[in-house]
Amino acid sequence: MLQVAIVGSGPAGFYTAEALVKKFGAEVRVDIIDRLPTPYGLIRAGVAPDHQSIKAVDKRYAGTATAGGVRFVGNIQVGDTGVTIAELSDLYDVVVLATGAPQDRPLGIPGEDLPGVIGSAAFVGWYNGHPDFAALAVPLQHAGACVIGNGNVAIDVARILAKTPDELAASDIVEHSRIALDASRIRDIHLIGRRGPHQASFTPKEMGELGHLSRAQPLVDPTHLPPLEADDALDPGLRKTVGFLRSFAALPRDERPITIHFDFLSRPVAIEPHGDALRLIVERTRLEGETAIGTGELHAVDCGLVVSCIGYRTTPIPGVPFDTAQGRFVNVEGRISPGVYAVGWARRGPSGTIGTNRPDGFGIVDLIAEDLTPADRQGGAGLDALIAARGLRPTSFADWQRIDAAEVADARPGAPREKRVNLDHLLAALLP
Ligand SMILES: Cc1cc2nc3c(=O)[nH]c(=O)nc-3n(C[C@H](O)[C@H](O)[C@H](O)COP(=O)(O)OP(=O)(O)OC[C@H]3O[C@@H](n4cnc5c(N)ncnc54)[C@H](O)[C@@H]3O)c2cc1C
Repeated sequence: MLQVAIVGSGPAGFYTAEALVKKFGAEVRVDIIDRLPTPYGLIRAGVAPDHQSIKAVDKRYAGTATAGGVRFVGNIQVGDTGVTIAELSDLYDVVVLATGAPQDRPLGIPGEDLPGVIGSAAFVGWYNGHPDFAALAVPLQHAGACVIGNGNVAIDVARILAKTPDELAASDIVEHSRIALDASRIRDIHLIGRRGPHQASFTPKEMGELGHLSRAQPLVDPTHLPPLEADDALDPGLRKTVGFLRSFAALPRDERPITIHFDFLSRPVAIEPHGDALRLIVERTRLEGETAIGTGELHAVDCGLVVSCIGYRTTPIPGVPFDTAQGRFVNVEGRISPGVYAVGWARRGPSGTIGTNRPDGFGIVDLIAEDLTPADRQGGAGLDALIAARGLRPTSFADWQRIDAAEVADARPGAPREKRVNLDHLLAALLP
């Protein structure tokens, strides 16, 4: 029997489990271990709460978890607390790290540690109910907010800051964030990017949505748009996205109270305290080819909140070689060391969609099959003994289903669920 431990229950972990069962059938046992009591990684804690249809992919993962041969073992940290990689390598033939990239990349500018400057992992975790960020203090009392980055996470953040309570009614945004956002005084949301519209990583669906917000208008400076004929060279998706930006630039200002400013060609250089708030110092840039070059021309944007959405890093795990520059585990096509592999964002860094993790998971299983020298390992029985000896409290998939049912039962009218945002409350759903 092949014994496999997958560390991380996000898309990469679940697609790997699915591929293992497809490849090895009844000859494999898979434990998917997660530090949280709940499964699904960024499907639960990253994907925007007002994008419920995207979260529906969890049904497929639930199918994998319940089809036989696969267990979910939640609430167990792998690393220096919980269980170690060395212990897993003793117990299982194969260990696959699918731990994602949960840490914000630093901005690397003065002032980034000031109160009010928040990374998107924390900000998104706060409104999505990640237990690590339930107590985050998010200042929403000033008119200005800066969102740094030109990708879809920046759009998610701007959209959540801009939407009305009614527009969020059918989402699973958590109560503490809903109440805080309801009282928000933010009126000017600046989306700050070093380069121009042609270099942005926004996708058309997310961009198009910004044109339909009930109290917020997107504003694009027409001088930031390249000549129309230059759009012909773009791939179809980006051309459509830039088309939306052109349509925003052509719109007259209307009465909607919130403005989402697209500040292209703008490089943040410092964040400074300013009265009881902040100001972001921005350098105007110009493009040389695809590269943004500073012009030396500075201006300040007043704000109370800065959210950086400039990418993520994997959290190192003791005993696993780590590439500090790239922010992920050292690996060659997913191979880390004999019997230890990486997949998903932990392998390739924070890029691609949920679906990108599927070929990644299936590809790693082909490598595992090539490399395999099965030994007679204890697998899950050994893990259970270790967990019991340490007095840890794991959650099973059946436990998750009870938490899920409790969250669905707690939902406010029209919402899919009310997430439990701290560990005690999550585990309280399992009390008799
Ligand atoms: C804000 C945001 C919004 C996004 N929206 C979309 C979208 O709308 N559509 C789309 O296609 N893609 C979206 N993505 C991308 C998508 O979420 C990722 O491609 C995908 O989640 C990566 O999967 P993963 O399994 O590698 O990592 P993750 O989903 O991050 O899963 C990693 C798992 O590992 C666990 N873990 C970490 N460390 C340990 C440890 N030491 N021990 C045990 N467990 C551990 C974590 O708790 C987590 O459950 C979004 C990403 C972000 C950040």
